[in-house]
Amino acid sequence: MAVTRSKQKRSGDAPRRNAETGRKPSSKKHKYIFVIGGVMSGVGKGIATSSIGLILKSKGYKVNAVKIDPYLNVDAGTMNPTEHGEVFVLRSGLETDQDMGNYERFLNVSLKPEDYMTSGMVYQSVLERERNLGYKGKCVEAIPHVRDEIIRRIRLATDQNGSDISVIEVGGTVGDFQNALFIEAARVMKLEHPEDVIFVLVSYLPVPGNLGEMKTRPTQNAVQQLNSYGVQANIVVARSSQPLDQRRKEKIAISSNVPAEQIISAPDVESIYDVPLNFEREKIGDLLLKILKLPKKPTSGLSDWERFVSKIKNAKKEVKIAIVGKYFDTGDFVLSDAYLSVIEAIKYSAAEVGARASITWVNAKEFEKNAKAVSALDAYDGVLVPGGFGETGIEGKILAIEYARTQKIPYFGLCYGMQLMLIEYARNVLKLPGSHTTEIDSDATHPVIDVMPEQKDILANENYGATMRLGVYPARIKKGTIAEKAYSASEVEERHRHRYEVNPAYVEQFEKGGIIFSGVSPDGILMEIAELPKSEHPFMLGTQFHPELQARPLLPHPLFTAFLKAAAERTR
Ligand code: GLN
Repeated sequence: MAVTRSKQKRSGDAPRRNAETGRKPSSKKHKYIFVIGGVMSGVGKGIATSSIGLILKSKGYKVNAVKIDPYLNVDAGTMNPTEHGEVFVLRSGLETDQDMGNYERFLNVSLKPEDYMTSGMVYQSVLERERNLGYKGKCVEAIPHVRDEIIRRIRLATDQNGSDISVIEVGGTVGDFQNALFIEAARVMKLEHPEDVIFVLVSYLPVPGNLGEMKTRPTQNAVQQLNSYGVQANIVVARSSQPLDQRRKEKIAISSNVPAEQIISAPDVESIYDVPLNFEREKIGDLLLKILKLPKKPTSGLSDWERFVSKIKNAKKEVKIAIVGKYFDTGDFVLSDAYLSVIEAIKYSAAEVGARASITWVNAKEFEKNAKAVSALDAYDGVLVPGGFGETGIEGKILAIEYARTQKIPYFGLCYGMQLMLIEYARNVLKLPGSHTTEIDSDATHPVIDVMPEQKDILANENYGATMRLGVYPARIKKGTIAEKAYSASEVEERHRHRYEVNPAYVEQFEKGGIIFSGVSPDGILMEIAELPKSEHPFMLGTQFHPELQARPLLPHPLFTAFLKAAAERTR
């Protein structure tokens, strides 16, 4: 009798298959916010997603953010940063889109690999399953199989994070061919859980110069285009150069079934960090909770964030930083996105030392054409050489590093920036001519930077995707060094993305010649931080890892802060 009852109860509770999709909906109560772009790309969907996440977190909810990239690359690791922006590496080592960096910085969390997906990743899983007879002889199709794999991944991300709300950014713009399946997956999730899934359309309202009037038509069209997928926007974030007035809110409302109070004015702002504060002025947080039927909780809201923003705004002293790199020019435009995390890390640490950083892009190739031009670096308080690959501009970077070292300008080298700092030191101080990295010169007389042994086969087989030394590794910090003073810790964990290393055969020579390896892998083999003593130079330090990937507005990175402090103290 008891057995029958419990059986009945189970079948009564089990979610019914959805008649349309044939899927069994999840029985878990969880909220999903899909953020979709309308009209055009590049209007700040990533920052809108990050801001929504931050606001909901500040309202006492556990939030994770997911980025969906519709391209077929399996991850972002093989993409050129000049075209696609920075490759952001997660703790796990997954190489992702730069938006993941925005989410981590705004939410002040480390995201998991499940929080990122590309079409390539989704198809790869489906195809592997097909090869393993996982579909039991069925014809494998975009719908339902690919769609269901997308839903599985979204739910997995939620479970892995144990979050209350997932904010999911769908890459591209509504109407794109490539992201349609992702919107379809979202629609099906909404169908299965009407109260738990909502849609935010981030749209753009142009103000044509000849009219001087904000036009709502493209946004109305975007809402309707989304309708044609069977999806109704709950909230429209109206991006524009100017604030949206009530009249235009009503105009959009009438044509789109989105109530005027659910249309958020999102004008251009001086800094991306103002966006959450602006959203909150429009009360987007309470609106989201109301639509999602979630209770308001007593919290201190965005007060930490407000403090950070006012610190950035009120900083008086200007610190001039030159970033010497190569991924700058695309046609007539300068693309600083390739170094997004570096720029942000500099800003947080500048604010931390009470300064405002003014960043100048210096193209390393210029110094190769004219070595004397390097003296232009005198005008700066600090020089930074970020990560990079390949030959372009590297002799120019080495000239810049030599100048910073001999003129005692604070220098910070990130990954390639540390390797080149050591090559410069080997050539000019240790007097080892022909010192180089084997990345550029495989027959270098002194291969002071060399490929890691396990990388040799990988390179021989041209197996480039996801095969670098990636993600978090620990480093021991040497006592009495600049690194130790900055970190106040004896062991740290930092994120990596490289194939080459300081060649162990040269470590002793470097140390005898004055370099201090202040961070070393726990087994003592890999050099993670190199520095010159303070008595020799105000700040000359390089890291094999990428500290910029772990700098957060509310948690500036200690090494960046040490660099900015030294830069702020420089007298010119
Ligand atoms: N090209 C260098 C390497 O692979 C540095 C990489 C980087 O700067 N991220 O080791």
